[in-house]
Parts: sequence; structure tokens; C-alpha cells
Amino acid sequence: MPAIRSISLETKNARVSAEKSCPFCCADIPREAKKCRACGEWVVSTSHGIAAMALRFFGVCWALVSVAIAAGLWFAGQSIRAWVWMHSVNAQITPRVVDFVLYVVIAVVLLKGIAIGVGFGIMARLAPRRPRWWT
Ligand SMILES: [Zn+2]
Repeated sequence: MPAIRSISLETKNARVSAEKSCPFCCADIPREAKKCRACGEWVVSTSHGIAAMALRFFGVCWALVSVAIAAGLWFAGQSIRAWVWMHSVNAQITPRVVDFVLYVVIAVVLLKGIAIGVGFGIMARLAPRRPRWWT
């Protein structure tokens, strides 16, 4: 009797170690499984892939370059403002008008740059997740 019990315990342990529990739906799935057959969730580390990573990097660079261009426009605008203050012969073109045009241009550059950067990030997020090749 003890022998039979020992064998059945070993069999049970072997079955337990050959399977694992899905962290999402708690179904028993093979230990080597990468995707749960019951709920379809990946049970290994996944990523959006190298193309999505490059896309996200490009989006961040785009947003940073836009901020740099806006800062450059700001400093250039200060010089233009000073020049207008000193040299404008047209009474309609006051430093206040220059400020308004400058702020509008800077706002457009910033909003467009950030919107496109976020857009690239969203496109990267839309890429399907696959098991990571580096783990
Ligand atoms: Zn599952």
C-alpha cells in the first residue's frame, strides 16, 4: 500500500510540474506555453516589437525638436520685437502685434509637434504584442 501511494504522489507531482496556472484566467496550461489556450493572453513577457520602438523613439525626437524650434522662435522673436520697437515706420506694426504673431506661430509649432509625437506613440501602441526575443 505505501508503494502505491508513493507512485501516485509522484505521478501527481509530475503532472503539477508539467503544467502551470494562467495568471489571467487560472486555467491549467503546459509549462512551456507562451499563450493561454483558454483566454488567449500571453503568459510570457511581450513587446510591441522593434519597429514600434523605433516609431516611438521617432515620435519623442519629433516632439523634442518641435520644442527646440519653438524655443528658437521665441529667442528670434525677441530680437524681431526689439528691432520693430526701434525701427518700425508703420504705426500698425507695434511690438504687441509682433508678440501676437509670435505666440500664434510658437503655439502652432508646439501643438503640431506634440500632436504628431503623440500620434507616433499611439501608432506604436497599436502594434500587436509578441513574445520578446531578448528574454
Ligand atoms: Zn488564461
